[in-house]
Formats: sequence, C-alpha cells, structure tokens
Amino acid sequence: MNLLEYEAKGFLDRYGVVIPKATLLKLGDTPPKAPVVLKSQVHSGGRGKLGGVKLVQHQADVEKNLDAVFGLTINGEKPSSVLAEEMLDIKHEYYLALMINRSRGRIELVAHLQGGVEIEDQAGFLRLDQADGKLYRAGDKKLPIDLALSEYYGLEDKQFLLGEIVDSLYKCFVQQDATLLEINPLVLTTDGRLVAGDCKMIVDDSAIFRHPDWSFEAEPSSANFVELDSLGTVATVANGAGLAMATVDAVKSAGLVPANFLDIGGGATVESILNAFREIVKFPAVNAIIINIFGGIVRCDEVAKAIIEAQQQIEGLPSLYIRLSGTNAEEAKALLAKNQLTLYDNLNQSLEALKS
Ligand code: GDP
Ligand code: MN
Repeated sequence: MNLLEYEAKGFLDRYGVVIPKATLLKLGDTPPKAPVVLKSQVHSGGRGKLGGVKLVQHQADVEKNLDAVFGLTINGEKPSSVLAEEMLDIKHEYYLALMINRSRGRIELVAHLQGGVEIEDQAGFLRLDQADGKLYRAGDKKLPIDLALSEYYGLEDKQFLLGEIVDSLYKCFVQQDATLLEINPLVLTTDGRLVAGDCKMIVDDSAIFRHPDWSFEAEPSSANFVELDSLGTVATVANGAGLAMATVDAVKSAGLVPANFLDIGGGATVESILNAFREIVKFPAVNAIIINIFGGIVRCDEVAKAIIEAQQQIEGLPSLYIRLSGTNAEEAKALLAKNQLTLYDNLNQSLEALKS
C-alpha cells in the first residue's frame, strides 16, 4: 500500500520527525494564506515537474493556483485533497530513505547529498546496513550511522539531530511494517532546521492484521471490464483478476450465462462500483448482479457503504447478490441488512439464492 504524502507525514510527525506546518484542504475549503506551498495529494511521485506542487508567494495568486492543483490529473489521478504547507526557505535538499534490501535480507539506509527531483538519475549514494539493531556504514562496523551520515552530508554540527531523525525513521519503519520510507527532500532551512519536505511511504498490506488503526485512501485502480455475452443474464463484479475469473466460472458452472468479466481493482470505492453499475445496466438481458469482493486493505464495511450509495444513485438496477469476506465483514452485513440487502458468506450461497 502506497500512502499519500499527508498520510506518510502523519507518521513522521507521530515518530518525532519535523514536518512543515500544514493544513489539508478539500475542494471548496477556504484558500490558505500566502506565502504557501500547494501540493497535490496523489499517489505518484514527481508531482513538482508535472505542476502538482505550487510555490505561491502572493495572496492574489492563491485561489487560481489552488484551483489549478485540484483540477490537474497526475498519472491518471485527480487529488481529493491538497496539502497547504508553510513555505520553507531552503538552503539545501538531501535525500534520506530506509528500504528493504531483499537480496541481503536487511533494512538499508540510503542517503544522497543531492535530494529533490530526479534523484534516481544520480550516482553516489551512501548505503548503510542495519546489523545488530544499530545502523552502521556498509562494510564498516565501527562507525555509527549518525556520525557517518553527518560527515557525509557535511553537517557535523547536526550529528545528534541526524541520529535522532534516523532513530525515529527506523522506529517508524519497523513498527509500521513499512517497505519504503523515503524523505526527498530532507530540507536544511536557511535558519538551520532539518525538515522532511516530502515523504513517500509504502506499508506491507499483509501486515494489516497488526494495525487496526490503519486507514488510508485507496490508490485508484483501473478497472478491467470485458463483455462476454451481450445477452448474458448475470453480471459480475469482483476485485482482483483471479477472483473475477473464478466468479465468471462459478456463474457458468451454476448453469447461468455470465454477461461480463469485471475486475474493479484493489480499492472498491463508490466511484469504482458506480462505474461498474453504469456498464452493467447497458446489458439488456441482465437480471442479477453477483458482487464478489475480498476485503483485505479495503474494508468490507467501506465496500458495503459504496454499494449502498451506488445502488441509490442508479435507476433500474438488477437485484444484487453480494458476497463479501475479509476485514469488517460483520459490520458490512449489518449495514447491508439495514438497506434490505443480504450478505452471503460464500459465492455458492449467493448463486443458490439467485437461482431460487
Ligand atoms: P515531488 O515532486 O512529488 O517529489 O514533490 P516535493 O514535495 O518533493 O516537491 C518538489 C520540489 O519542490 C522540492 O524538491 C523543492 O525543490 C520544491 N519545494 C517544495 N516545497 C518547497 C518549499 O517549501 N520551499 C521551497 N523553496 N521549495 C519547495
Ligand atoms: Mn519529493
């Protein structure tokens, strides 16, 4: 799971890494006071180059820049929020990241003297491995990381502070089951502060059972809709290609005619379910929709809410046969029941109900 910048910075803040003062804006919120940095909250990086990060000096320019950032689609994603941050007076931008080195089976710290954009193209990274719970420079078991890093950055006077930042990042990385925690840029301000200017964080989806507090905005996933039979009577909606194929097969095995294959992707949102329903109502013979969704990082109760909202928005929708399983399935069941919808525990039950 790839987090949005504000979500990642929320973790940095919790673990004691300094972040810029910020307000998260939704569309229509009061424009912030200049000077301000407006940052599109989309999942892909490189927003600066694509117009998704605006440094606004004058109040007169705030509103039009805010509209521009909200209106800009970046790599297929429109932001649902914009982060308005204090403008930093940048003296230097560094790169600092923790990631998993899979071949060595270790957490690795990667630093670069020149942070900011296009870091990937540059050579000359400093890599440090985690051994025995402390961080050391690769191949040098005597030099602790705070010392190595401050020397490398040319910030000998900030050895203690850098050590604290690395400690905090390391705690955050391990406790939050991250696979990447990247600060680019780590900003040295003209008044001598070290501030996380940007943050990219990826957490391990499989660790969700350890984190009841995790709640992140889903990355938009492109749906994959295939028409199978224009006169099919049963439409299918599933998440994940494997589950979608299995759903089509099960409909066929039950002696029914599937109209389509649809993988709505990982995140089942109101938008993705609405889009699915809009496609399905174009089929003249469809009289039932089988919804088969596994809730991993998307929670079943959120999916249930999305189904209910989408159902209310679309006229003349065929009957729904819903199977959800995974996280918060019980809450989903209660929500659906309130809206006269049944949640079936497995696909066979929903197909049996459909046939009867
Ligand atoms: P990204 O392009 O998605 O990685 O977004 P960043 O948050 O990293 O911003 C891109 C670049 O914009 C940074 O590397 C900085 O050069 C610049 N930038 C961002 N915030 C500020 C700021 O507060 N002050 C100044 N002077 N530059 C900023
Ligand atoms: Mn960045």
